[in-house]
Amino acid sequence: MKKIDVKLMHPAEQIALIISRIYRRKMTTTSGGNLSIMDDNGDMWITPAGIDKGSLTPADIMCVKADGTIVGPHRPSSEYPFHRALYKMRPKLRSVIHAHPPGLVTFSIVHQVPDTSIIPQARGVCGPVGFAPYALPGSELLGEKIAAEFEKNPEYKAVIMENHGVVLMGEDIADAFQRLETLELCARTILNARTLGDPVYLTEEQMLRHERAIHVDFKHFMNVEHPSDERAIRTEICDIVRRACAQGLMCSSYGTASVRWRGDDFLITPSDKQRWDIEPEDIVQVRDGMVEAGKNASRSVALHYEIYRRNPKINSIILTQTPYLMGYATTGVKFDVRTIPESWIFLQDVPLYPFGSQYSDAEKMAEGFRELPCALLANDSVIVTGDRLINTFDKLEVADFSARSLIMAAPVGKLNPITDSEIEELRVAFHVGQ
Ligand SMILES: [Zn+2]
Repeated sequence: MKKIDVKLMHPAEQIALIISRIYRRKMTTTSGGNLSIMDDNGDMWITPAGIDKGSLTPADIMCVKADGTIVGPHRPSSEYPFHRALYKMRPKLRSVIHAHPPGLVTFSIVHQVPDTSIIPQARGVCGPVGFAPYALPGSELLGEKIAAEFEKNPEYKAVIMENHGVVLMGEDIADAFQRLETLELCARTILNARTLGDPVYLTEEQMLRHERAIHVDFKHFMNVEHPSDERAIRTEICDIVRRACAQGLMCSSYGTASVRWRGDDFLITPSDKQRWDIEPEDIVQVRDGMVEAGKNASRSVALHYEIYRRNPKINSIILTQTPYLMGYATTGVKFDVRTIPESWIFLQDVPLYPFGSQYSDAEKMAEGFRELPCALLANDSVIVTGDRLINTFDKLEVADFSARSLIMAAPVGKLNPITDSEIEELRVAFHVGQ
């Protein structure tokens, strides 16, 4: 999978890459949505009008020069007037994404804004979110209305468009994309939580606690060495993180994976890199309880450390957010995995820990993984453990589809779980817990 480089990659190439991610993640249709980049020389690079979003190449991306001259094989997006209006309003922001992702469209058509305090990193990534009144698509008036909404609050980088969709700005296209993905994750989490019950939002104090947690109490070590088995793990982690992003099981702003290396030493993803573009050199080595110098390990490194120390059979851990599992993690509704044999065999039971447990109670949480492979952390994440990383990823997929089928079942009827005697039969037949 291609990596985005917002400094060295041509704007047309960046746009083609990000639109393909948006399309694959089903956050736009073939015809809907548009994105642009404002170049240093005043040229605006923008997606073309009416061309298949599923197969755009850099050669299809249009350029609107500062003097209005249009260069390229198609017509520029009909929404380019509002892109232009936004760059005028926020000259420091260099990218605009407009899309119709289903979660945010749901908020747009009921005239609400999703509350980003549903998950800890979203407020920092998305900022405050505005709501712009309706106007005819492609009209100058729509541009004026969106620009007027952005003008209300200099902090706005995301605005829901009434009965239409969402518009996001960013310092670059990766920044705007991260905002789109994170806000859509908030929207879908809230919608799933509302299907199950009442979502609980984080308090100001809890969010500050998450923001401060980056300063983990781990010493750094110099002279890191990379034997070939260590390098193999770096590649393995990158492959699974990118796959998880493509599958909607991680997003730019969230998702951690680690793999045991030797003894209790392990490798883990960093806290400060966008997940889609993670590279082997970004992965952080943790040796003798110390972190490789010059890097920030995931905020959850202490929990991973305790899990490996206390559970010799666990060799990999994934900690992430998916909209369905976060529906459970934000309501406290019991995630009952006695749905189908596969779900029970893989997961058995999924406990829910209070928010912040990974910082204050890492040792106790780590002990819990001796019996059960998966846990939810309120408003924060799902944690899955296992032997090989691919098996742990498989378990994450099982957990995600189990949550999804339960949420889809909610309007139809209550779960009729597999009975105790059927569970016993599975326990024996599949050697569960032995
Ligand atoms: Zn639109």
